[in-house]
Amino acid sequence: MDTPPRLKLAIQKSGRLTDNSLDLLVRCGLKYSRAKDQLLCFGENMPLDVLLVRDDDIPDLVQEDVCELGIVGLNVVEEKRLGFRARGVEPLFEQVMTLDYGRCRLSVALPEDQRYDGPASLAGRRIATTYPNILARWLADRGVAAQVVTLSGAVEIAPRLGRADLICDLVSTGSTLAANHLREVETVLESQAVLIRTPVPVAEEKREWMDRLVKRMDGVQQVRESKYIMLHAPREALPLIASLLPGSEHPTIVPLEGTTEKVAVHAVCRENVFWETLESLKAAGASAILVLPVEKMLP
Ligand code: ATP
Ligand code: ZN
Repeated sequence: MDTPPRLKLAIQKSGRLTDNSLDLLVRCGLKYSRAKDQLLCFGENMPLDVLLVRDDDIPDLVQEDVCELGIVGLNVVEEKRLGFRARGVEPLFEQVMTLDYGRCRLSVALPEDQRYDGPASLAGRRIATTYPNILARWLADRGVAAQVVTLSGAVEIAPRLGRADLICDLVSTGSTLAANHLREVETVLESQAVLIRTPVPVAEEKREWMDRLVKRMDGVQQVRESKYIMLHAPREALPLIASLLPGSEHPTIVPLEGTTEKVAVHAVCRENVFWETLESLKAAGASAILVLPVEKMLP
């Protein structure tokens, strides 16, 4: 008997994106066993193999059609895309969706004691980065001729070592910059984890699983922010109450036993529900307000 073709998805082996990526797959229903060498997770209930690799290799694996899918930071995807284009090679990975983790920004930072007067003041200066292509494009877009110093790591200490005048590096909280007496002055790219796929057509059976997985990921993402709200409302306050429910289009209206003045309102809110929202609902006449987490959703 033929075994069905297995879909391959690459994720970061060990780093900032690993736990969230595995967690996302588990929420999509994947049950897996991890190979002894730790380089592969074998999907037991889906024809899916998860390859665990260095994040920088993920776009290349999709490019070379070793994997049909990959999860990696937009920063890496953009850098590779520009790199391929610069070498005259068509990038063979396309972005399917952004995922709600791995948020950071690629920023220009300079020693705290130095003045900054906008991009033009970077002309003729040396900027250390591990993202030479993204930085070069940003500089070119602004017509600034600076010298891009490509490093493979430890960018934040380059100014102190005299290897560069300033840096362009990933920042999330800014604590690393502060520890190195650097000041963030420009955001070059806002980044988060993204799902990429091959544009090359894949076999029918694989494609079906690919579509299913993408839909489930979308569902998992929507659920994270979503809440189910139930409340009682006076009929005449319905338009106002419906307008106060964040990110919900069509609330369900249910009659209540023993009264015609009040109804029950049920709605899925696709945005965060804050205490302030509940207080406004109450002020609009709502009572018995309940907010519940949503477990699964298939849009
Ligand atoms: P690898 O061994 O896989 O090459 P790495 O050192 O390149 O690991 P990590 O530091 O784990 O990678 O970062 C992986 C991704 O996490 C980054 O490319 C970026 O998209 C995201 N990220 C989120 N916040 C930060 C941050 N503060 N610094 C660096 N990366 C961040
Ligand atoms: Zn890396």
